[in-house]
Amino acid sequence: MAEAENKHRGHVVVMPYPVQGHLNPMIQFAKRLASKGVRATVATTSYTVSSISAASLAVEPISDGFEFCRIADPSFSVELHCESFKQHGSETLTRVIEKFKSTDSPVDCLVYDSFLPWGLDVARGTGVSAAAFFTNNLTVCSVLSRFSSGEFPLPVDPNAAPFRIRGLPPLNVDDLPSFVTRHRLSHPAHRQMLLGQFTNHENADWLFVNSFQGLETQDDESGDSEAIRAKLIGPMIPSAYLDGRIKGDKGYGASLWKPLSKECMDWLESKPSQSVAFVSFGSFANVTDKQLREIAFGLKESNFYILWVIKDAQIEKLPDGFVESVKDRALMVSWCNQLEVLAHDAVGCFLTHCGWNSTLEGLSLGVPMVGMPQWSDQQCDAKFIEQVWKVGYRAKEDVEGVVKREEIVRCLKGVMEGESSVKIRESSMEWKELAKKAMSEGGSSDLRIEEFVRTLGGTEK
Ligand code: UDP
Repeated sequence: MAEAENKHRGHVVVMPYPVQGHLNPMIQFAKRLASKGVRATVATTSYTVSSISAASLAVEPISDGFEFCRIADPSFSVELHCESFKQHGSETLTRVIEKFKSTDSPVDCLVYDSFLPWGLDVARGTGVSAAAFFTNNLTVCSVLSRFSSGEFPLPVDPNAAPFRIRGLPPLNVDDLPSFVTRHRLSHPAHRQMLLGQFTNHENADWLFVNSFQGLETQDDESGDSEAIRAKLIGPMIPSAYLDGRIKGDKGYGASLWKPLSKECMDWLESKPSQSVAFVSFGSFANVTDKQLREIAFGLKESNFYILWVIKDAQIEKLPDGFVESVKDRALMVSWCNQLEVLAHDAVGCFLTHCGWNSTLEGLSLGVPMVGMPQWSDQQCDAKFIEQVWKVGYRAKEDVEGVVKREEIVRCLKGVMEGESSVKIRESSMEWKELAKKAMSEGGSSDLRIEEFVRTLGGTEK
């Protein structure tokens, strides 16, 4: 029973890192807890507060020492932001938790984004329990924790044997998070932030990972060590796309940009079933100009209908005449409601950068994917799409690290047409069912969440 309005089962404060790919799963987790009778308060930077709209949640502003969000800005210093957030965030979050102490609903647990490991100190300082929420997959978390502890040494030997952790798929060097391999030196602060998630995680009371039993976990006894002792509580996707138990839960309830929903839906309505290639590279859109041109030519040559989420600044960099040449079969928007698009029958495949949320969304909605990973954990997610779950292809880069137009056409046709597409679609449908089952009543993720809720201090009324 998900709608537990008459019960008070404790109070959690949820603190996400304020970017879209972290807000979405953590707000969704807060809503899921609220649906089980837990009071859930989201603590987020003051400039993010107005982007959150979820009736079942309260929102409290905290400070990262910045007046507005500049995280996607190229000149932004991740290092300075981390320091500032730790200082200002610790103070303001403490005040939020303290504020509830003398009420009839004191905070029981702080669920903090693992990118903000100082959340653990705030929890300890205020006497509430602590849960770290990881927004990467379990394999990536487990591998990074080994790099953080020094068990896997840095720098990585490019010829190293596959990295094995018991019960998880092995990763080759090319599948490792890019901030420990090719982007290790160019993005030291990102590397630090990823590895910093694992400096104190073992002291937290709970570790939650947005994945589910069977998605990465394998009955494989080989490997050197075991995964981190996390509870798999995902996929954190609005209930309407999974179990349907949370009434009206059709969107994440957190959008940093306004989606052009009507334009997308009207356009999709006019297209035949499974005829559209949906293209989205997430909220950072860090695709090189050269790669952007190849994507444009690949999409054009593939001859499919195209729905492309592309920022205005990138449209200016498209090849001359491209927009005009595809105007009869392409819609370009700066931001959409990605779930709504993926769920539409006209969409036949998802060309994705393989951010973990996008990957989980494609998988949970049964949409075949073409992975074109750019950085961070995306290489690993792309590998799983092709080799582990068999729900699509990973587009291969050339020696300069660019995916050429011919490769894009090959992959799009492979997931949209012919015998290969039939098999991929079958696997996609199987994963869709498994994702739904994990989150349904009595499913593996649902049980893990219930287990957590039972430990909170609330009294059932
Ligand atoms: N998203 C969206 N509209 C868009 C593009 C993306 O709502 O036009 C959402 C998408 O559904 C996903 C999130 O933004 O939940 C992006 O997270 P992801 O981990 O895939 O990538 P990131 O932006 O962190 O690179």
